[in-house]
This record gives sequence, C-alpha cells and structure tokens, in this order.
Amino acid sequence: ATFGSLSDRLAETLKNLRGKGKLSPADVDGTVREIRRALLDADVALDVVKSFTAAVRERALGDEVNKALNPAQQVVQIVNEELVQILGGQQRRLEFAKKPPTVIMLAGLQGAGKTTLAGKLAKWLKKEGHTPVLVASDLQRPNAVTQLQVVGEQAGVPVFAPEPGNGVGDPVKVAKNGVKFAADKLYDTVIVDTAGRLGVDADLMKQAANIRKAVDPDEVLFVIDAMIGQDAVATAKAFQEGVDFTGVVLTKLDGDARGGAALSVAQMTGRPIMFASTGEGLDDFEPFHPDRMASRILDLGDILTLIEQAQGAFDEEEALKIAEKFATDSFTLDDFLKQMQQLRNMGSIKGMLGMLPGAKGMREQLDNFDEKEIVRTEAIIQSMTKAERANSKLLNGSRRLRIARGSGMTVTDVNQLVNRFEQAAKMMKTVAKGASLRYRVWVRS
Ligand code: GDP
Repeated sequence: ATFGSLSDRLAETLKNLRGKGKLSPADVDGTVREIRRALLDADVALDVVKSFTAAVRERALGDEVNKALNPAQQVVQIVNEELVQILGGQQRRLEFAKKPPTVIMLAGLQGAGKTTLAGKLAKWLKKEGHTPVLVASDLQRPNAVTQLQVVGEQAGVPVFAPEPGNGVGDPVKVAKNGVKFAADKLYDTVIVDTAGRLGVDADLMKQAANIRKAVDPDEVLFVIDAMIGQDAVATAKAFQEGVDFTGVVLTKLDGDARGGAALSVAQMTGRPIMFASTGEGLDDFEPFHPDRMASRILDLGDILTLIEQAQGAFDEEEALKIAEKFATDSFTLDDFLKQMQQLRNMGSIKGMLGMLPGAKGMREQLDNFDEKEIVRTEAIIQSMTKAERANSKLLNGSRRLRIARGSGMTVTDVNQLVNRFEQAAKMMKTVAKGASLRYRVWVRS
C-alpha cells in the first residue's frame, strides 16, 4: 500500500496519456494539473509540488517530447526522472569510518520507529559482514532499554545499556561509554538509539545535540514516520536545526502513507533518504533507492528489489539444486512445495507482487491472493504419497479424488495445482538450461 492512492492516481494519469499520439499543450497542461492535484492530496509540501510540476511542464512542452517518436512515453520518462530527483537522485550508502568503530546515531520523534530501526539496521549490517553493537541512550521512555534489548536479541547483536537500578542515568554518558565499549571490544559499528518526544521540544533537541557532540557520529539518521503527513517538513526542519542529520530513514511505508513525507523530506532538507522501513518485523527493511521507489510509485515495477529480496530469502545451495533439477527435468512436487515455503521467507507475497510492473492492474487478483494459497498447496501436496510427489504423471483420476478428500479440497483444486506445477516445470526448464550455467559461474566467483 506504499503511496496507495497517490500511486494509483499518477499511474492512471500517465496511462491516459499513453493512448495519445501527438501531445497538444492542452494535453500537457491537463496532465500536469492532475499530477499537481494528486501530489497535493498526498500531503506533499507545496514548494516541492511547485518545483516538480514546473520542471515536468517545461520539459514536456519542449523539444525532448515534441521530437520524440512516442511523446506520451517520453512524458512518462520525464515524470519518472523528476520523481527520482525529488527522492534524492542517486542512492546514498552509509559512510563507514576509516578507523572503526563507525558511529551511527538515530534521532526522531517518539514512536517514529527508532528502536525498531536500530534492530533492523543491526541485523542488516550483520548480514553485510559488520559487527554492530546497539547502545541504549533512550533513557526517557520507561521500557525503551528493554525494547532495545529485545530487538538486539532478535538481531543477534549485543546491546550496551546502563545497569538497571542505577538511577535514570545520563544518556550522553551512556552513548560515550557505548562507543568506548565498542572500540575496546573491536565491534566495527555502533548504533546509538536516542530518546524522542511526542512533539518537537527544546530539551529533546538539546539532549540529542549533546549526544551528537559527545560521540561525533559518522552518520546521524533522522527517523521519520511516513504517516505523519503535513507535519513531516516542519519536524524534519526542526531536527535539522536542532541536531542536524546526514540522512533520513522513512518508516511505516507499509501503512496507508499518503506519501507526502517521503516526497518532501529529501528536497526540503537537502538530505538523502537512505533506508525505508516497511513493517514491524526486523526484515521489513531495505536500503532506499530513489529510482526504484519512483518506478514503484508510477507502477513501472521494481524488479531489482524483488530479485534482491529473492536472493536474500533463498538459500543459494537450494537454488542451485533446483536450477539443476529444472534443467534435467527432475523437478518434483516436493521441490515445488519447498519453493513455495521459501516464498514465505520473502515477506508478504502481496508486497512482492506489488513490485511487478503493471501490478496495479491486477489489484483485485492481488487482494484475492493470500498466503492461504500456500497453506492449501501444502495440504494438497502433503496428502500425496511419496511416489506421487516424485512423479506427477502418476496422478490419475482416482488418486486425485483421494488426495482431494485427504486434504479437504476439491478435485478442481487438485487439478489446478497439478496444472500449475506442470506449467512451471515446463517453463522453467527452458530458462534453467541457460541460467544454471551462469549461476554456477557466479556462485564460484
Ligand atoms: P521509537 O519511539 O522511535 O523508538 O519507536 P519504536 O521503534 O518503538 O516504534 C513505534 C511503533 O511503531 C512500534 O509499535 C513499532 O512496532 C512500530 N513500527 C516501527 N517501524 C514500523 C514500520 O516500518 N511499519 C509498521 N507498520 N510499524 C512500525
């Protein structure tokens, strides 16, 4: 549901264009007006809306479009490019200190998702080969320390926290000692969680600024809830003045965010969006790529993220084995089931399908598609005998009836599943013959 209605409206506006051959200035103006309304309704800051629509309009009326073979397509391209610019242009990666530990400080309002993010970032860094440690400098909220300890445990990283019962403690001191601890114990990254308040306030800013001064972080990430809408810009500016930050993290992009925060913050602060958080689980997190996000918003698809998630979720050994099986025609229903179960690791299937180009057109199908599908598939395949699973050709009418009864499904369900399996096997066989070769080379290097 990232940018749900904004995305629907922009995609719709651009789709209407596609039917046209030449574009008149009135067509361009109409399109720009629609875009403007969609952005304003999504709570995008007025300044950003103005500069965005002005840029699109100017380019769309210029030679670039006039001389294009397909003017409408060219306008889509322009909107896409300008959107990428608003979102920060190039992807910006974390800067690591030449001399470890790298210190990353988190700042933001209470409830923005800092503590959760600390866990996500730590888990991700660990996967990237780093050795992070979490530091609990949020001593404001009564259970913030415990919460950080819980996410630390989930992420499998140590948490540096003040001893319980030691009074309230001084967050600046804790931060400093945390960094010292990391340096002594040779951890290479320190993530400092800080306190937030419900609203911007002077004490909070001062504390965050003091922590910043004390630990001299390599990165200060401003964490902002994408759902806060119109307040996003004011909040971001207050933090920029009070603490300053090197990058932005957008959280709760899985919610019904109208998108205003995401589309305003980078431009209004001149700081890049570096990560996006898309759920409560520690894996609901990804580095932010302006270009990919723009194509997701415009429903141009986000194949790259999809592939990366797939690579993260799939066991490489397993993938290699499966590719071999496709190529040699020995892919079985058991493998099919295993693959489906792996899909589950990839997070919500809906979210995944949402990254495919043109997926919005399939909205209804998407909404009907839920993880129950996997459960049904499991039930059916588990009702098959070992021999049947190894060789789907054995599945005659009476066997199918028995399987349907055994799994509480209908024969039609069983038939559909078998058809799907056979089609997949056939299709993948051709693909895999080429791919498994490439894959092997890639795995070795
Ligand atoms: P903090 O006060 O800034 O440390 O915020 P927390 O990390 O405690 O998060 C506040 C709430 O938002 C918690 O209930 C989190 O589970 C939830 N949360 C954090 N990030 C996300 C996200 O990306 N999506 C959703 N849906 N919930 C989130």
